[in-house]
Amino acid sequence: MKNQKDREFARRLANEVQKTFPVLFRDVPVQATKVARALGIAIELRADLNGRAHIQILEEEKQHHFKIFIKPNLSAPVGRFAVAHEIGHAVLVRHNPDILLSWDKARQESFANMFAAELLVPLTLREQCSDSFRRTESIDGLFELAKKLGLSISATLHVADEEHAWTRGCNNIWLSVRRSQNSFTLRDEKLRIVTAIYDREKYYVPRNKSIKSMTGEDGWLSNLRVSQSASRDYKLTISTITGIPRPKYSQVLYDARIHARRLSALDHRDGALIALLILSDQKETPQSGRPSLTETSQAVGSS
Ligand SMILES: [Zn+2]
Repeated sequence: MKNQKDREFARRLANEVQKTFPVLFRDVPVQATKVARALGIAIELRADLNGRAHIQILEEEKQHHFKIFIKPNLSAPVGRFAVAHEIGHAVLVRHNPDILLSWDKARQESFANMFAAELLVPLTLREQCSDSFRRTESIDGLFELAKKLGLSISATLHVADEEHAWTRGCNNIWLSVRRSQNSFTLRDEKLRIVTAIYDREKYYVPRNKSIKSMTGEDGWLSNLRVSQSASRDYKLTISTITGIPRPKYSQVLYDARIHARRLSALDHRDGALIALLILSDQKETPQSGRPSLTETSQAVGSS
């Protein structure tokens, strides 16, 4: 719930900025550095940053002064999102200086990401892009949309994650995948799901899950070279919300095609691979070898 409230708050603060400087939001890509300057936030290039960007907040006579430092040589889409994220920190502190003390770091970071997505893709544009995202059946389609918005692939998926309208009723599941350890056990390095974007009223795809546990193999994905794409057909078992009137999760087997493209190093923090799972409309009854959670508990109870 907190997440939903913060999302609405991020949207409201981004809308205020958009309404104050409408000229800056007439076209995409939005020029985030211009927005920062309009808000009285200085921008300075700095090569020795650990991350992509950083905001300095100084307090002087109860007034906050902000300066965004940004790494030179970032691609325009990555730099744009990084600056918008830092603007998010600034408007949050301007709105409520006490937030620096009352919100933990993770919540402030998550807010800044939501704010950046809201700021860079104004509401009318979000509505326009909704159909094209839903209909996209190829990774090229995602690249085209990202280009139109002036965002990186991971930022575009971030926007999609915020907007249920972009996935509602859709059989597509977008995954961002990287090689990493299980985030709970800190062991077992595999290709794992970093981000999963799908209709949450239809499916459940956990983050951290390994691709191998879904498909039985991941060698073809590990072997892709950067920028290389490949597709494969599978029968995939996906947690699916079934049951009327009381929804429950069932393990449902789908015919699925996976389109994948390698974007960067396999352990890249934003995700090394992008995968699009297109599930068949035709559902099959749960596999006998992999009963649904509900059935398993019934079986245990009756034995
Ligand atoms: Zn931040």
